[in-house]
Amino acid sequence: MLMSRIYNFSAGPAMIPESVLERAAAEMADYKGTGMSVMEMSHRSKAYIAVFESVENKLRKVMDIPATHKILFLQGGATLQFAAIPMNLMGGNGSADYAVTGLFSQKAHAEAQKYGAARLAASGKQSNFTSIPSKQSLDLDPRASYFHYCHNNTVFGTRWDYLPVTGDVPLVCDMSSSILSEPVDVSKYGVIYAGAQKNMGPAGLTVVIVREDLAGRALPCTPSVLDYAAQIKNESMINTPATYGVYLLGLVLDWVESQGGLGAMKKIAEQKAALVYDMIDDSDLYRSQVEPHCRSMTNVTFNLGNIELDELFVKQAAGRGMTTLKGHRATGGIRASLYNAMPLDGVRKLVEFMKEFQFNNT
Ligand SMILES: *Cc1c(COP(=O)(O)O)cnc(C)c1O
Repeated sequence: MLMSRIYNFSAGPAMIPESVLERAAAEMADYKGTGMSVMEMSHRSKAYIAVFESVENKLRKVMDIPATHKILFLQGGATLQFAAIPMNLMGGNGSADYAVTGLFSQKAHAEAQKYGAARLAASGKQSNFTSIPSKQSLDLDPRASYFHYCHNNTVFGTRWDYLPVTGDVPLVCDMSSSILSEPVDVSKYGVIYAGAQKNMGPAGLTVVIVREDLAGRALPCTPSVLDYAAQIKNESMINTPATYGVYLLGLVLDWVESQGGLGAMKKIAEQKAALVYDMIDDSDLYRSQVEPHCRSMTNVTFNLGNIELDELFVKQAAGRGMTTLKGHRATGGIRASLYNAMPLDGVRKLVEFMKEFQFNNT
């Protein structure tokens, strides 16, 4: 590791593999003999179209995306998709089902209410979002246009440990903070979307994977850049896409493949998360509020029982080269985000520090 690099436990924008940054740096000023940076290329140029298409093919390969589904490289973050999804998919009967299991799914639900009847099909609010509603408790409308949920709740540190079964109602899933961390059966989904800045690359790129037969029913007020059918037709280039972000996603995907693909990513994610959860479970100082069966593999949340200790922990960890461990303002406490690019050594170092801090403060 470069001497100046630190372990950044940020929930996003988050770490990017060091080898990816080095390759991007090496190709920065002159991309493969073109005499220019990818950033400087016309998005309509031959050189750039080759980059764009190869990244799309790589994502299709790494995620095993079937031909029934189109890949869109858009802008506006996952948050703009909170609006794009109802605009594109609610046209049928004007209603959709939402599971609210954290901060972002709550925002998605609120946004959708502007465009139609966004029903609350499940809520984790009663448990303060420390658990995921059970299969039996989902209140599903068989005529809903779609069922929306957030696979991994970045803020609270929970994740769905089962796939919701909704019959013919398409599953729409916010995978911003878990995409590329494990294999996914894409054929089971109507739409998967993710902001890139957690596990795919830099902020500014939003990946949307949409079952093609669901596109083409957008509400008349839908802006063209948000209209899936229009973006499919224009191959994500109604206007200038996040050109450099797409290129960087390509480098990240090469790295994921070099590590053994999504199966390998899942193994290492489980190993990293287990190190921290075992430490928490064996400790009287560290407490996890999350129900064990729905613990997140990518965002581990815990606290030390009082705010002063939480703050001291964050401060001393930063002094050891482990930063951005402060929990989200909605939860307080500590959050260690362990996305793909966080090395195993970074997690080992964190756990060692947790042991030492416990020894010194109990
Ligand atoms: C970060 C995050 C978002 C918000 O993403 P933006 O790209 O900032 O809009 C939405 N959902 C989840 C699950 C996230 O982790």
